[in-house]
Amino acid sequence: MSSDSTLALHGGPKAVTATKPEHHRWGAAELARLTAMVDQPSLFYWKGPQTDAMLAEFRRPYPLQWCMPCSSGSASLHIAVSALQLPPGSEVITSPITDMGSVIGILYQQLVPVFADILPHTYNLDPADVRRRITPKTKALMIVHLAGNPCDMDALMTIAKEHNLFVIEDCAQSWGAAYRGKPVGLFGDFGCYSFNEFKHVSSGDGGIVGTNHPRFGPSLCKWGDKHYDRVTGGRNPETLSPNYRMSEPQAAVAAAQLTKLPAILAAHIRLGTRLLGHLQKLALPGIVLPEIDPRDTHSYWFCLLRIEPARFRGTRDELVAALHAEGVPAGASYIPKPVYGYPLFQNHNFFAGTWPLRAAGLTTMDYRTVQCPVAEAMLADGISLPISPALTDEIIDQTADALAKVVRHFKA
Ligand SMILES: *Cc1c(COP(=O)(O)O)cnc(C)c1O
Repeated sequence: MSSDSTLALHGGPKAVTATKPEHHRWGAAELARLTAMVDQPSLFYWKGPQTDAMLAEFRRPYPLQWCMPCSSGSASLHIAVSALQLPPGSEVITSPITDMGSVIGILYQQLVPVFADILPHTYNLDPADVRRRITPKTKALMIVHLAGNPCDMDALMTIAKEHNLFVIEDCAQSWGAAYRGKPVGLFGDFGCYSFNEFKHVSSGDGGIVGTNHPRFGPSLCKWGDKHYDRVTGGRNPETLSPNYRMSEPQAAVAAAQLTKLPAILAAHIRLGTRLLGHLQKLALPGIVLPEIDPRDTHSYWFCLLRIEPARFRGTRDELVAALHAEGVPAGASYIPKPVYGYPLFQNHNFFAGTWPLRAAGLTTMDYRTVQCPVAEAMLADGISLPISPALTDEIIDQTADALAKVVRHFKA
C-alpha cells in the first residue's frame, strides 16, 4: 500500500492501481450452440435441443426431476407460487431484503407477502422472527439466500414441517451456494434460479424453476405456459397462467453458461474468500464482516459487510464515496429500503391504486406498520463490495487496502 494516506477523494493516490483485464462472459461455447441452433427447424422450448441441453447441464448440480425453463427469475418464482394454488389471502413469509422478483408472483396470485426480519450478519431470514409472524393464514415460506450465503435451512425447514408450510427457495443470487454440503434449491418444494444479466451465469434474461414434488412436478410447465398441455398437445386450459416460456436462443446461451458454472463459481468463491481473509486479518475497527458458517459454501455474488456508524466521523455514504474514489465500485448496502418500504407497498397500490384483497376483507395487512428493525439497520450501515470473475487477486488485495485506508481516515 502507498505510504501516502491522503484519500483519493482529496487528491491522494488511488488504492486500486491494478487494471481490470479484459473479460468475456460469452464466447466460443455460446457461439457454437447458437450456430447449431440456427439450423434447427424450430426455436420453441418444448423438446428443443438447446433447452434439453440446458436442462441436462442444470441437473448436474441440481437433480430436480421436473423443471420449467422460463423468461426470468421472477417468472420462476411466480410459477412456483402459482403451482401451490393457495386460496386468495393466504400469507407467504419472505425476506424484506430481496429483489422485487421474490414478491411479484405472491402479489399476482392474490396472496399476502409477510415480511420477517433478518439475522444481523447473515442478512438472511431470522428463523425466530419467521416463527413470530406465522398466523393461521400462513401457507408458505419464500426464502432468499442473499448474496450467495445459504439460509439456516435446518431451522427454516423445521418450522415449515411444524406448521405444514410449503417452501420456495429463491436462489437467484446463490448459484453454487450449499448448506452443509447440499446445494440450495434442493431443500424446499421448489428451487428457483435466474439467468439475468447480473447473476453468476446469464443468458441476458432467463430463469428456471425445478421441483421433485410429485404433486407439483407433472404440471409445473403449465404454470408458465398459458396452462396449455404440451404433453398431450391439448389446448384446454383449466385455469389462468401467464406465458413465461424461455426460447431456444436463451436456452442455447444458458446451456453454454452452465458448462462454465463450476469455473465461474470457483472464481467467485476464491476471490470472495480472499477478500474476507484479508479483512479478517486486518480486523478493521468499526467493520463487521458477514457471518459464514464454515460448513457452508458462500458463492459470493457480492460481499456485504456492515459498519458500526458510531465509530466513524463520516457517514456510510461518505465511506462509500471515498471507496469509489479509491477505485472500488462499492455500493451502499444492497437495496435503498426494505421491500415493504417501496411506494407500491406503502400505498397498497397493487392493482390500479387498490389492493382488491384488502377491499374484499381477505387481509388486514397494512405495510405502513411493518417493521423489521434489523433489516432497516443493515440497509443503513451496509457496504457491498463487488466480487466477479472479471477481477484479479491484485484488485481484491487492493480493495482490502482501500477499505483499510478509508476506515483509518474516517475513524472517530
Ligand atoms: C435477480 C433476483 C430475482 C429476479 O430475477 P430476474 O431474473 O431479474 O427476474 C429474484 N430474487 C432475487 C433474490 C434476485 O436477486
